[in-house]
Amino acid sequence: MIASVKGLNFSTVFDAAADAMLLAEHTGHIVTANPIAQRLLGYTEAELKGLAIEMLISPRYRKQYRYYQKLFLSKPAKRPMSAGNELVALNREGKELLLDISLTPMEVREKLYTLIIFNVANRRLDTEEALRASEERLRLAKQAAGLGIFDYDFKHNIVYWDKQMRKFWGKYSDKTVSYEEFVAAIHPDDREARQAAINKAMDPASNGEFKLQYRVINPVNGAERWISARGRVYFEGGNPHRLIGVTRDITEQRNIQKKLQLQRDETESILKQQVAARTASAIAHELNQPLAAISAYSEVVLHALNTNSFSAGNLRRALQGCVEQAQRAGRSLHELLAFLQKGELVTEHSNLAEVIQEALNIVYDDGYGGFHPVLRLQENLPAVQCNRTQVRKVLVNLFRNAVEAMRAVDSPVLSITTEVQTINDKEMATVIVQDNGPGLDQIAIKRIFEPFFTTKPSGIGMGLVISRALIEANGGQLWVDFDAKPGAKFLFTLPFVT
Ligand code: ADP
Repeated sequence: MIASVKGLNFSTVFDAAADAMLLAEHTGHIVTANPIAQRLLGYTEAELKGLAIEMLISPRYRKQYRYYQKLFLSKPAKRPMSAGNELVALNREGKELLLDISLTPMEVREKLYTLIIFNVANRRLDTEEALRASEERLRLAKQAAGLGIFDYDFKHNIVYWDKQMRKFWGKYSDKTVSYEEFVAAIHPDDREARQAAINKAMDPASNGEFKLQYRVINPVNGAERWISARGRVYFEGGNPHRLIGVTRDITEQRNIQKKLQLQRDETESILKQQVAARTASAIAHELNQPLAAISAYSEVVLHALNTNSFSAGNLRRALQGCVEQAQRAGRSLHELLAFLQKGELVTEHSNLAEVIQEALNIVYDDGYGGFHPVLRLQENLPAVQCNRTQVRKVLVNLFRNAVEAMRAVDSPVLSITTEVQTINDKEMATVIVQDNGPGLDQIAIKRIFEPFFTTKPSGIGMGLVISRALIEANGGQLWVDFDAKPGAKFLFTLPFVT
């Protein structure tokens, strides 16, 4: 224990103190600073001497400092620490220090000095700073995402909302609104569904989350906006207590979606019309030939009856022809429908030479004879895997087109060459059908596979479209050789049996 304090002067105590101390004149200039103060502030005593305290205060707190200074000087009295005397100072490295300050006025020879004792209370400052930074980040994120925030207090029936929310609702002023007022702006048609979603979230058995979309009508200009809301209900003692959530204006998005939907509907309806038109044309294509034949047979019968020149044999043959053509029409339609319904394709091992011969027979029977068929088939050709009826139909169509083209230009010799080749990898057979007609002009070359393209007075323009679809369904391809001479040259492939 110190027996006597005599001889213990001010600077000894000042320098020995465990707290940071500054002695300042009433003008606010530093007279002296003890070592702890020097260390905390990062300055030497010489640097601090004569320095205005204001220069140690963070610029954004200087105004506050001046206010404190004025207040203190107007009525100098001891102010202990933690009495709200806090200032943010800057150390030499520019770091902000939150100082807890005590002030003691001292009069020495009629001059007023102030003893300033301070502690660094920076932990709080750091926390406040971190909070401010995080709030700022949240604000920026909210702004970038265009989010509004609301907080509904069930107990007081009040909705706290931010500026963005107030903008959505068309109310710029009050920071709170009654729940009834909040709901009043929601489109009447959407209120029930919205309330149901919230009721569900308010059930303590649920996870409290909700997500919904509804319309809000601006009370000022009546404009309607789509809002997407998302949030959760918080419970206290098992009861719903608050409902906090974010909202986003999705009007633009909804408008785009609506437009896209309209476009989709339109495209779908056009597509349906096209499908209907093509189906009708495909049916017409199938019926054209047998109906023409039936009509021709009937005319023969009628003529014979009218002129009394009939023989029972001729009549029978004509009527037999009618029956066969009618049955053929029925079969064709049946096959076409099966194909259109895209049922499972039934394929079989088929001998191409036989299928070609069958097709030639049909063409002859249909009255498209009178041409010279040249067959160039490879010896021991392996079987192909295909639907025989469909491939026959394709060949009939190609032969018939060839005959019609050759007849149209009165070719002196009508000849159709049918060749079967094996392509290099031996997995596919290539069938080539070439006539010696006029061939294809530039327009036909471009449009020949388009639906409804025809150059014939009674043509439908679906034969090649259907043929291509049939070959593709059988795993092959059908195309035309543009450089072929003479006449037109069509090629298609089919897979060999593996
Ligand atoms: P359609 O026979 O009803 O006209 P297609 O789809 O079978 O329908 O044929 C379309 C068009 O292709 C024909 O109108 C014709 O102009 C042309 N075409 C098809 N095959 C030949 C061919 N061998 N020679 C010349 N033109 C052809």
